[in-house]
Amino acid sequence: MSFTVAIVGRPNVGKSTLFNRLVGRRVALVDDRPGVTRDRREGEARLGDLDFTVIDTAGFEQSGAETLSGRMRAQTETAIAQADAVFFVMDARAGALPDDRAFAALVRKSGKPAVLIANKMEGKAGESGRLDAYSLGLGEPVALSAEHNEGMPDLYDALREALPEKTAEVLEAKQDEDGPHPIRVAIVGRPNAGKSTLINRLIGEERLLTSPEAGTTRDSIAVDLDWHGEKFRLHDTAGLRRRSRVEEKLEKLSVGETLNAIRFAEVVVVLLDVDNAFEEQDQKIVDLVESEGRAVVLAVNKWDLKERNPGDISKLREKAREKLTQLPDVPLVAVSALTGEGLDRLMQAVIDAHAVWNRRISTSALNRWFEDATSAHPPPAVSGRRLRLNYITQVKSRPPSFVVFCTRADAVPDAYKRYLVNSLRQAFELPGTPVRLMLREKA
Ligand code: GDP
Ligand code: GDP
Repeated sequence: MSFTVAIVGRPNVGKSTLFNRLVGRRVALVDDRPGVTRDRREGEARLGDLDFTVIDTAGFEQSGAETLSGRMRAQTETAIAQADAVFFVMDARAGALPDDRAFAALVRKSGKPAVLIANKMEGKAGESGRLDAYSLGLGEPVALSAEHNEGMPDLYDALREALPEKTAEVLEAKQDEDGPHPIRVAIVGRPNAGKSTLINRLIGEERLLTSPEAGTTRDSIAVDLDWHGEKFRLHDTAGLRRRSRVEEKLEKLSVGETLNAIRFAEVVVVLLDVDNAFEEQDQKIVDLVESEGRAVVLAVNKWDLKERNPGDISKLREKAREKLTQLPDVPLVAVSALTGEGLDRLMQAVIDAHAVWNRRISTSALNRWFEDATSAHPPPAVSGRRLRLNYITQVKSRPPSFVVFCTRADAVPDAYKRYLVNSLRQAFELPGTPVRLMLREKA
């Protein structure tokens, strides 16, 4: 199970440097027969946890006055045709030149998913050229320095976005080979909600391994946790570890730190204080998690302080439904970080949320639901014309994301989209996870 990426662009933008960076020491299949102009090289690339084949189209000097020599065009077209996706490289220090436009036109014409790379961006020297890159019509440029190995995590994200299904397949296949990976969890919440108490409680009771993690920010560190045989990787920030003196602690929510934690995680535990749950800061945190597309579990902490009455939890769930309208039916667990009460239920809720976030629904089941949902409540007519919604497909998971093909994507009202999302959540039991629904014209 693999896929192929062609590296395309005019000479000297850094294609070979990127190729070498991706392939590293792994053997490249170079056609080095003497006297043969090197048309292209193939190699086994690695980017983060993704392995794929990469084709380099470097190796031609531009000859004569032609913008794009026939041979180079042919070579580039062949490479693109053989690839599942294209890395289009431009030199941000040089800006978007006519040659870049000629190559970009080839890429657009191919219809292959493409990642636009603004290279030579170390030290930000190419900022204006990077902005220039937008004019190539290949979307948002990824800022990279192939030579200095900067920007690779962004390239990784862009590749996952450009080829969602193929990259997910490769990762899933790998997961089957190596066994399950730990679920990545972040615990976030307003100051004093009890985050560090909870983290210490979780790791204090169980065997713990700390590992500085590649790719996360300097301030953050991951802690591996084995909770009754299930593996978790917890995001632990330097801010949390340094929590010796209370007076040092900021009373303000650090949005930057919270965002780092959210981006690290697959499942985010939003910790609430039972005394003041669902106030503005909590809602803001849930908004952040939702917009970053992570699964959410709500944990209401300091439960030991509360006098218990039947129905307490349902009341909290009711309140969550009312306050967090952007994410219906978020799982909610009452815990005490101090006594350890409820932590088994919390970790089980994390496992369940992770499964929902990873859910893949078959196209046939989706379309059976889609027929029912659209006939029970047909889309409204807009300026006298009926909207036709043709079919739906899931384009990726993590979070579950769907595309509806229809006649006039712009005309479908937001309220109708919300109806579809809510109905979809109910039909396929997708509580507490962001669900993305996009509309596209033609299939
Ligand atoms: P290709 O013709 O597109 O394959 O380009 P090369 O990979 O041969 O690179 C052309 C030149 O740009 C070489 O001198 C590289 O060292 C240089 N280069 C490649 N990547 C970077 C980068 O990220 N930053 C800078 N400053 N130079 C780079
Ligand atoms: P953070 O700012 O979110 O990391 O919060 P801390 O973990 O520093 O906790 C803030 C205060 O709440 C500390 O005084 C904790 O001892 C207390 N606390 C945390 N969890 C609990 C709990 O479950 N029950 C009680 N009674 N107090 C708690």
